Amino acid sequence: MTLSRRIYPGAVIGIIGGGQLGKMLAQSALRMGYKVAVLDPSEDAPAKATSDLFINAAFDDEAALKQLGDASDIITYEFENIDGPLLKRMVDEYYVPQGAETLLTLQNRETEKDAVRNSGAKVVPFEKVSGDGDVKAFAEQEGWPVIVKTATGGYDGKGQYLVESEDDLEKEPIPYGDTQFIAEKYLDLEREVSLTVARSADGKTIVFPLQENLHRNQILYRTIAPSRIDRQKDAEAEVEKIMNKLHFAGVFTVEFFIDKSGELYVNEIAPRPHNSAHHTIESCNISQFDAHILALTNQPMPEIRQHKRAVMMNLLGQDLDRLGDALYDHPEWHVHLYGKSARKPERKMGHMTILTDDVEDTLEKLKTDFEKEG
Ligand code: ADP
Ligand code: MG
Repeated sequence: MTLSRRIYPGAVIGIIGGGQLGKMLAQSALRMGYKVAVLDPSEDAPAKATSDLFINAAFDDEAALKQLGDASDIITYEFENIDGPLLKRMVDEYYVPQGAETLLTLQNRETEKDAVRNSGAKVVPFEKVSGDGDVKAFAEQEGWPVIVKTATGGYDGKGQYLVESEDDLEKEPIPYGDTQFIAEKYLDLEREVSLTVARSADGKTIVFPLQENLHRNQILYRTIAPSRIDRQKDAEAEVEKIMNKLHFAGVFTVEFFIDKSGELYVNEIAPRPHNSAHHTIESCNISQFDAHILALTNQPMPEIRQHKRAVMMNLLGQDLDRLGDALYDHPEWHVHLYGKSARKPERKMGHMTILTDDVEDTLEKLKTDFEKEG
């Protein structure tokens, strides 16, 4: 484990990844007086606009990563699919308070779920599968439906197969040879929630209010904070167990499922800022991005207070198409656009946060504004 030290404003924070998370991290860092270096393969990455040094290179370009390391006093990432051995070498050579071990564990759903289960926190029953026979055997034990997920590289529901029965396995073959897969019991969900926590390099933690997440096509669609059902303490207890087993520094988010009987399960962990905590920019005393910078640079962190309830919605390509200029008719909406040049359906182009005293009313209004045509 890396020794903690305080990094003062003026220092350079190097960020691997320059998407919207990198951009919002950089905005917090710049505001606090740090300088920012960013590495991203895309020429017009959102965080290019918020960096003092922008290195346009692939995530597996070792020379470019070294250039980032040499230019920075501290390294972090906004992106979790970094090549493991390369990240290990970065950890050996540079100050990377998050280390490599946790990221390596979380990069693979099987090792991730194993680690969570071994910590004593509850996970949905799962099994590694490498053929239809394994899936059937798993279903015989746990019951249908089953969800088969790629163990690596999946996000926003990519690489997932919902299997209702044996017949489905024939209808939609799973490409077992391409990568590793796990089968998981498919739950009848009551709710999905997430807990965002920041842990400083010397081990202090602060916790944001439990967030309630609504998904559509397996992409986060709305976040309501705080969650309309209060499981804050239960979620904190699960995170505590995980923190006793895995090293965390900076901000991370644990996603949970709640089933119809009220059972709380850990789904997955993102060791970086998370879409469901974007509302913290406007609704809390410090944002998840501020918290990440404070935690990594080992500065004191305030206890989190939320000023007002928040509803966050993602702005996907199709939402911008549908809304057009109407997006600007609502001064009460906090609209964030990430500055991505290509607008594509289902691509996260931005998000917006609405602070409200009446969550149900706000959700209803968003429905009328965004769903009149579809
Ligand atoms: P990703 O890495 O793509 O976010 P997740 O495992 O979080 O993958 O799955 C995405 C979404 O799919 C979840 O937020 C949930 O809505 C749904 N889902 C995934 N696994 C299950 C499950 N076992 N039971 C019910 N719904 C699930
Ligand atoms: Mg997820």
